[in-house]
Amino acid sequence: MPAGLTAALVLGRMRRRVALLDGDDPAHAPSEAVHGFLGHDGAPPADLRRIGREQLAPYTSVDTRMAEVGGASVEDGGFSLHVGGEVIAAAFVLLAAGMRYRPPAIDGIDRVWARGAYHCPYCHGWEVRNLPLAAHGADEMGVHLALLLTSLSGDVVLLTDGDDGLAPEQKAELLDAGIAIREQPIARLESEGDRLARVAFADGATEERAGLFFAPAFDPSPLIVELGCETDDSGAIVIDSEGRTSVPGLFAAGDATTEKKAVVLAAAAGSRAAYAINAELAHRRGAARIG
Ligand SMILES: Cc1cc2nc3c(=O)[nH]c(=O)nc-3n(C[C@H](O)[C@H](O)[C@H](O)COP(=O)(O)OP(=O)(O)OC[C@H]3O[C@@H](n4cnc5c(N)ncnc54)[C@H](O)[C@@H]3O)c2cc1C
Repeated sequence: MPAGLTAALVLGRMRRRVALLDGDDPAHAPSEAVHGFLGHDGAPPADLRRIGREQLAPYTSVDTRMAEVGGASVEDGGFSLHVGGEVIAAAFVLLAAGMRYRPPAIDGIDRVWARGAYHCPYCHGWEVRNLPLAAHGADEMGVHLALLLTSLSGDVVLLTDGDDGLAPEQKAELLDAGIAIREQPIARLESEGDRLARVAFADGATEERAGLFFAPAFDPSPLIVELGCETDDSGAIVIDSEGRTSVPGLFAAGDATTEKKAVVLAAAAGSRAAYAINAELAHRRGAARIG
């Protein structure tokens, strides 16, 4: 959403013809508020999308459609995008389809996803500051998350969920930072109202927690495979410094391209790619001009 909307804004202001095709199902839809985006801190995600679309309205060369791209292919000198029964031809494509965030398989987590169960302390840590917090995972990321939480709360526990994969030096680092470690398998997350209240363990013990932070898995868009661009081991699209993928004419921006996932970063990447696309169009011999 922020990557695609921002790119459309930049290209619209340069009077480029743009089809903005958006399935309207962005990553942060379950969230109550977007944080850390200057000028919009605390805004409901739906408001951010609405304002973004409203601000595109004056740029009449941008055709915004709430529509899912069902398939895409590389053609001679461009791309074909399948939307419903229609095929849209494009000289350039900016893939800003985001990633599907998949929380760990803990019973009850779906009920409190973005309501106490969070993927990012930068996005949601402030809202649970000074409250009992937990990080999840017996790996480098679990340790990293737990350490990040220590600036938000003096009561942090790392839950390894039955995994004894922590190295002795990781345990020492955690204990040194005042972080407790609980190694029992988790049975479920319990909620009060729509918020996380406590973690219940398989041995019957419970731990009252206002926030549980975890590293989600990420599922990329099938369009990446269809368009044949190179990805790294994490499934992220490989891009150059201006958003070009390994496929000529195909650019990418936002969550689909990086492990650093945030609204401001996606918006910046969309803007950067739009500058590059516009420059390529401007330098194209015989490029069609609007107006
Ligand atoms: C629960 C949650 C809370 C978050 N909170 C924050 C926060 O507070 N602050 C922050 O900075 N970041 C936050 N993030 C991260 C942030 O949402 C993402 O980094 C950002 O939205 C990425 O922008 P994007 O444009 O790359 O992708 P997205 O925002 O995910 O947008 C991708 C868009 O592409 C569309 N799409 C996908 N496939 C197709 C298709 N085939 N056809 C048409 N459209 C398609 C989707 O419908 C969607 O609208 C949060 C993430 C989550 C999951």
